[in-house]
Amino acid sequence: MKQPLPGAGPASSRGARTPASGQRVQIADRQVPLALVRRSPARYTYLFAKARSEDGCAYCMCQGSQPRMPRLVIRARAGRFHLAGWPDEGSQHAHHCDFFKLDGELSGRPMRGDGGILQTEDGTSIRLNVPLTVVTAGQVTASLDSPDSPEAAAARRAIGLLGMVHFLWEEAQLNQWRNARRTQRHWHVCRTRLQGPLEECSVNGQPLAEALYVVPVFRRTTADIHKAAFAQFQERLGEQEGRARRGLLLGEIKNIQPSTYGHRIALRHLPKGLFASAKQLERWKRSYAAAFSSAAGETACRIALLAVEQRPRSGVLKVVDAAFMLTDRNYIPVDSSYELRMAEALADASRRFIKPLRWDRSDDVFPDFILTDTEPPTFVEVYGVQGRASYEIRKRIKQIIYQRQGRTVIAWEVAQEMPSVSLHK
Ligand SMILES: [Zn+2]
Repeated sequence: MKQPLPGAGPASSRGARTPASGQRVQIADRQVPLALVRRSPARYTYLFAKARSEDGCAYCMCQGSQPRMPRLVIRARAGRFHLAGWPDEGSQHAHHCDFFKLDGELSGRPMRGDGGILQTEDGTSIRLNVPLTVVTAGQVTASLDSPDSPEAAAARRAIGLLGMVHFLWEEAQLNQWRNARRTQRHWHVCRTRLQGPLEECSVNGQPLAEALYVVPVFRRTTADIHKAAFAQFQERLGEQEGRARRGLLLGEIKNIQPSTYGHRIALRHLPKGLFASAKQLERWKRSYAAAFSSAAGETACRIALLAVEQRPRSGVLKVVDAAFMLTDRNYIPVDSSYELRMAEALADASRRFIKPLRWDRSDDVFPDFILTDTEPPTFVEVYGVQGRASYEIRKRIKQIIYQRQGRTVIAWEVAQEMPSVSLHK
């Protein structure tokens, strides 16, 4: 199921992004505006085919015309060519470029081929550690998602739901803030940007656009279309011939309240509730402490990626696994209430910045934010925990690494006042 989104395909949405409007790419020997390629890829079929056979790639001109321009993958999907960033080379692009991505040591993204994300010319295949098809007959529940041989499956690890949210956020550049006009980023913008990854990824062998329902913003004019799309999503779930299909739901949490079926999770813009047990909720509160803390108050948002299955007969949607992510009002992920305040201060000061994401890894050393409107980029550190020995040691290691690298760092010890984050002091 393609989620209908009138007038808001990836081409039109990305064309609206600033300041990429003047961005150019080189396909075969021609230099063309990226916005045009995205709007009408069919016009460039000949060039795409030529570049694929002669160069094996296209090039991004975000840093001008150079002998070594960053490579772009030419993908063909449903008879249509389109461009994507070259795997693991996102950081070779200019910071303002649509293909820029943190990778290497500044991203929790698993190393190539190691972490359940496989990127090829045909698209991206995600291996999720939550089975999306299970055998239910004979009361034995088993996963049917592993078409690989045991060796291949072992070699290719799977990512968890949090890793998947972080992957989607990075792909859609939702962990980046470049808006100088202080306008807020709305959910419909997130959903529009997610269309790109939705169209070119598969998860456990299923097209991502079918397996994942990204909750659309409720509007009277499109309510019927979205209702039908959700009904179609639900129709695919449930049991058939001893097998049950699960689905993924991505949205913003409105509230979680006790009910007769356990706890009811309400997502914004979605009338139907999702149900979880008290035990599940307790576990999530421990695993996703920031998202369930009082920080998730007035200005913050909580994003949920839920794996659900449908109860036979009742049609009740039961959550089988979930990941939660705390974000600021612009849907920039944050790890604590202090980071939330910092992200808000940076946006208020019209700074351009990136939030490095951890994926499923919790122990890597990343800066909390990276300001990309200085050259070289400035790191921002929020030192929120005090008096815990292990934290103090990590903090000291970070400081030494940054000093050695000659980094400019804005550090905020939260017991003190937040330092100025404005670009022009
Ligand atoms: Zn670029």
